Amino acid sequence: MKVITKIAEMQKEADQLRIQEKKISLVPTMGYLHEGHLSLVREARARSDVVVMSIFVNPSQFGPSEDFKDYPRDFNHDVELARSAGCDIIFYPDAQEVYPEPYLTYVEVERLTKVLCGVSRPTHFRGVTTIVAKLFNIVKPQLAVFGQKDAQQAIVIKRMVKDLNYDIEIIVAPIIREKDGLAMSSRNTYLTKAQRIQATVLYQSLMVAKKMIDAGERKATIIKKRMRDLIEQQPDAIVDYIEIVDTTTLESQTALNGEVLIALAVKVGKPRLIDNIIVRVLERTINTESLK
Ligand code: AMP
Repeated sequence: MKVITKIAEMQKEADQLRIQEKKISLVPTMGYLHEGHLSLVREARARSDVVVMSIFVNPSQFGPSEDFKDYPRDFNHDVELARSAGCDIIFYPDAQEVYPEPYLTYVEVERLTKVLCGVSRPTHFRGVTTIVAKLFNIVKPQLAVFGQKDAQQAIVIKRMVKDLNYDIEIIVAPIIREKDGLAMSSRNTYLTKAQRIQATVLYQSLMVAKKMIDAGERKATIIKKRMRDLIEQQPDAIVDYIEIVDTTTLESQTALNGEVLIALAVKVGKPRLIDNIIVRVLERTINTESLK
């Protein structure tokens, strides 16, 4: 496995791989790797010849009062984990080279970035789309793998790829969870022992929502209220949002029908945690047999 830190060197490597007709895949991450990230590498491994993982804590996607400085980092450990998962190249650039002064160009996806996480993080997605666009130009992949954990991010990236005509296939891989259901996240390390237990309520509330839908509930307000009540029983949990939205437009749903994304963000002590599930809402059919 190679580690490349310079942009020009990565571009040259990508050009050479392309001449050899190798299929390049990209797995963008901010490092402090866990099983969730490694599952993306394995997905990329199965679908391409050369897997490039980028590790870059991207300053432009953090708000001024967010955790950019504290964000956990352990590059040496990441190298070992990436190697064990079958990564071929780690691209580990320097922030100064990625954003040289003066830096003036950003990529912005409209509308989809204004809802859900975009409400409390108004500049977050502009940072994400900008770095991902830059990584696409540097790594030159034919395929990129993202996690369903960041459901809104995946939808925004797919939109950017379509709107800017990137010739790149986007794969969205399932959420990897701890045994008790908590979605794996680098930010889980911020949780105290007591908060770690409380944090399981995110997934529990999503499961309650699914059960309610399976039992026939179709009113979003009733489901969201039950979720909120459950989460707010935890002393350190502060709900940022609980939403039930269309899986492509991210428009809020009131009477549930078809495929919906149930997404939430909750602060549990220091970290703001996100999670989601997709539920297929079946049309309620009257059992005519029983009426005969
Ligand atoms: P991050 O390093 O948190 O920016 O995440 C990098 C990529 O890994 C993103 O595409 C995330 O959606 C994905 N990811 C993070 N956590 C998980 C998880 N628990 N399961 C699956 N993918 C994940």
